[in-house]
Amino acid sequence: MRTLVTGGAGFIGSHLVDRLLADGHTVVVIDNCSTGRLENLDHLGKPDGLTVHVADINDPGIRPLFKDVDWVFHLAALADIVPSIQMPLPYHRANVDGTVAVLESARAANVKRFVYAASSSCYGIPDTVPTPETAELRPLYPYALTKMVGEAYVLHWAQTYKLPAVALRLFNVYGPRSRTSGTYGAVFGVFLAQKLAGHPFTVVGDGRQTRDFTFVTDVADAFVTAAAHDIVGRTMNVGSGKTYSINRLIELLGGPVVHIPKRPGEPDTTFADTTRIETLLGWHAHVGLEQGVQAMLDHIDYWRAAPLWTVARIQDATSDWFKYLGNTGDGV
Ligand code: UDP
Repeated sequence: MRTLVTGGAGFIGSHLVDRLLADGHTVVVIDNCSTGRLENLDHLGKPDGLTVHVADINDPGIRPLFKDVDWVFHLAALADIVPSIQMPLPYHRANVDGTVAVLESARAANVKRFVYAASSSCYGIPDTVPTPETAELRPLYPYALTKMVGEAYVLHWAQTYKLPAVALRLFNVYGPRSRTSGTYGAVFGVFLAQKLAGHPFTVVGDGRQTRDFTFVTDVADAFVTAAAHDIVGRTMNVGSGKTYSINRLIELLGGPVVHIPKRPGEPDTTFADTTRIETLLGWHAHVGLEQGVQAMLDHIDYWRAAPLWTVARIQDATSDWFKYLGNTGDGV
């Protein structure tokens, strides 16, 4: 297949590119490198099947790149909670306008499959765990809202224009090359940089909260499985099948801890009900946390470039989080 990956120089995107090339497909990457890094593709060398375009998904100049493409994977987006609260407009432009632009290019090119990276953050603080796709959608900050609206556009393009599209709601994806950029974000980058620097792990609350940590190669497999299938217009959870506490993660990483305050608007548990994707696509995850963490520790040097988050820096970086989400508790 001729495939196109937006956000292909990002964390998840670069693993999807690995997988597509390994399966013998050709890959066109579009990435504006705002948070993606071309170095994420360096290990591939310069394979014949790969072309990389540093371009923004809102640039109409990308349209010709969709010519003769069979499968489109749309992963390009701005991530993270705090900057989305501080700068909602760039998030809207990247995650909503950008998604509509990619949908329109895909539609014009008559692509065979379109797979969208949706976010489990749409569930906010869910009433039910494991959480099924039918749970009420309660985005609690602009990032979650923009990914949810992007998903609604994707499903609408499937309905109205018969674009053969599906959406995958990803739960806490982790693995080698997880992002190291300047903003305070996903826990693995924070903890691995702390481990390298010999600093204590900043555990939120009592560390008994749990997350459905899903290994990135399993997620890449879900994308490829969804593309190879003919289900249209459905959204499906992608999770590990388990949920793991932060304290368990600390045990696996090994090292001293310091506790920081529980953050408003954070669920105590994320845990995907994966019945739908198992039923529709026959997909399930293979990599458990023990194996996944070991794979990251084997590549820990990657996080030498990551910022070191101390208690004071986290307090400073999350002040808008507490300010704006402070009144969103359970039952919102
Ligand atoms: N977490 C933590 N210390 C940190 C950052 C995160 O203990 O410095 C915890 C956080 O409370 C949550 C988990 O790690 O339970 C995952 O956090 P992340 O921000 O990666 O994802 P999300 O909370 O959006 O699921």
